[in-house]
Amino acid sequence: MRGVVLHAPGDVRVQDREDPRIVATTDAIIRLSATCVCGSDLWPYRGIEKIEGPQPMGHEYVGVVEEVGSAVRTVRPGQFVVGSFWASDNTCEICQAGYQSRCVHAEPMNPIGTQAQRARIPLADGTLVATPDIPTDDQIPSFLAASDVLGTGWFAATAAEAAPGKTVAVVGDGAVGLLGVLAARHLGAGRIIAVSRHADRQKLALQYGATDIVTERGDEGVARVKDLTGGLGAHSVIEAVGTKESMMQAIRSTRPGGHVGYVGVTHGVELPGMELFFSGVHLHGGPAPVRRFLPDLIDLIWHQQIDPGKVFDLALPLDQAAEGYRAMDERRAIKVLLRP
Ligand SMILES: [Zn+2]
Repeated sequence: MRGVVLHAPGDVRVQDREDPRIVATTDAIIRLSATCVCGSDLWPYRGIEKIEGPQPMGHEYVGVVEEVGSAVRTVRPGQFVVGSFWASDNTCEICQAGYQSRCVHAEPMNPIGTQAQRARIPLADGTLVATPDIPTDDQIPSFLAASDVLGTGWFAATAAEAAPGKTVAVVGDGAVGLLGVLAARHLGAGRIIAVSRHADRQKLALQYGATDIVTERGDEGVARVKDLTGGLGAHSVIEAVGTKESMMQAIRSTRPGGHVGYVGVTHGVELPGMELFFSGVHLHGGPAPVRRFLPDLIDLIWHQQIDPGKVFDLALPLDQAAEGYRAMDERRAIKVLLRP
């Protein structure tokens, strides 16, 4: 099969990879209908995250089940399925509490590399959720978004306690931040402040339910959010970048007693203890337990209640993955869908 392999920073190649096969009785093999490039793939692409030798890429996926191991009970060949970037058993105490991304048996999808024609999905019963029927081509981008960016934005909005009567600020205008806006709106937040300085992303944020746009970053961005909230700061803030600047902007934009939901993979973030102590804000985040939200998200997409697939503003054949990475790196595209 064909698959994307990162050889060195900036060196993305689509090459022949060994076909996946059932390794454990709990595995499934899927044929990818669509896959995509994640903002987090840019960390190794830019050389900020070190790789040791050629690395298969990709952890977002939707597709049709081709084969299942002998212990798999809940999915069967022919079904269209959505999974998340952590395989999980969905039965341990941590999963049952809704934190499947930290399942005691969690397996990351990154080393498996779903930017490919096929993929092995570990713990298939716990990981995969089937759609009611085979979706139309138009629905596939939205289901693919559910695999990571929508589920992550949803977790961020939930962790930030977005709810009716609350003002939500969103730091980060990538796909996760934009879908955090969508989630906050769906959870009932009346006022949603999106932080973005890019016209195309502002437009999508407004379509997804943002009521205000702030273009300033850092402490100027904090001041703008305070201006818009009577000097207090937002009740709920979503952090969807992962830098120290964005994390501090999120914390400082939150009123005392408010909640920060942080889902940007942190790189070099150290928090000042004394400021944190006196901020009085709740911090909750981490790798999103997307699996918790998948059944509801699939239902919303199936019934056309939400349209998260709009974050994919560029679609390319898998063989042009290198161009997809470049487009995202240069911020020419919000998110790139790859057709295997
Ligand atoms: Zn578990």
